[in-house]
Amino acid sequence: MAKSAQAIMKTASSRRRFLTSLSLAAAASSLPAAAPAGDGKLRVICFGAHPDDCELQAGGVGAMWAERGHQVKLVAVTNGDIGHWREAGGPLALRRKREVEEASKILGTTVQVLDIHDGELEPNLETRRQITRLIRAWRADIVFSPRPNDYHPDHRYTGVLVQDAAFMVGVPFICPDVPPLTRNPVFMYYTDRFQKPNPSTADIAVSIDSVIEKKLDALAVMESQFLEGGALGHAGLLPRTPADKPKRVAAVRASQSARYLAIADRFRKELKQWYGEERGAAVKHAEAFEICEYGRRPDKAELKQLFPFFG
Ligand SMILES: [Zn+2]
Repeated sequence: MAKSAQAIMKTASSRRRFLTSLSLAAAASSLPAAAPAGDGKLRVICFGAHPDDCELQAGGVGAMWAERGHQVKLVAVTNGDIGHWREAGGPLALRRKREVEEASKILGTTVQVLDIHDGELEPNLETRRQITRLIRAWRADIVFSPRPNDYHPDHRYTGVLVQDAAFMVGVPFICPDVPPLTRNPVFMYYTDRFQKPNPSTADIAVSIDSVIEKKLDALAVMESQFLEGGALGHAGLLPRTPADKPKRVAAVRASQSARYLAIADRFRKELKQWYGEERGAAVKHAEAFEICEYGRRPDKAELKQLFPFFG
């Protein structure tokens, strides 16, 4: 039997009341408290598949926002527990959590590692909900993720999961335990080298020269990944004596520095568009990002407000 319109409205109204009280209770009990809204500070959340991906891709701009008092959260969607050639499992996950916490202290960011096994991430409903809740709880203005075409399945599915959340963050009756966002964030992709089906482009390119040493310091504390080589490393990378260690650390810093020099060269045209001919030509290290079509689409004036780095 069909319900009357009045009965349906009454049910909907009590459901909303129930969900509102549920959302307040859950937000208070299970999610980290976000800073008060409306304080004029930007709120940025970065997703990476492993504990080091966000730091590699957006550690520079992350540190630059943090220096200006904005709130930046880095989320590793897996715990990194197979990301080493010699060790694995719980002890490695804990080691990598400590490493990203140390890196975040240097960058001025906040970090969270989700307890999903490395190499086993799936774009399933449960994790889509988890990502949706994290973006809402952070009340994000900008959300970063990898693109969904990438060599590593965890990177691919992190991209898919964040894309899947891009619309859902505003829909009130999915994950009603966390209040929906009333304004869709800007979603952006990290840059990568993959060409098919389409190469990554840069809607914005940012000089990270002012924080490059800080970024290299943050990467250096993740010894399991850089000094020791991560999943595809080997014993030959390890310093033989304590006196050899500074040489190995210097080699790691040089190779990481080269990565951001290459990004600046690759996106020189965009750097000049953002900084002007002379300043753009002088940028040494850069990070670059592409707007995802599924979130809010900012124009150049809004991008300048979101990335307040161009003076
Ligand atoms: Zn990764």
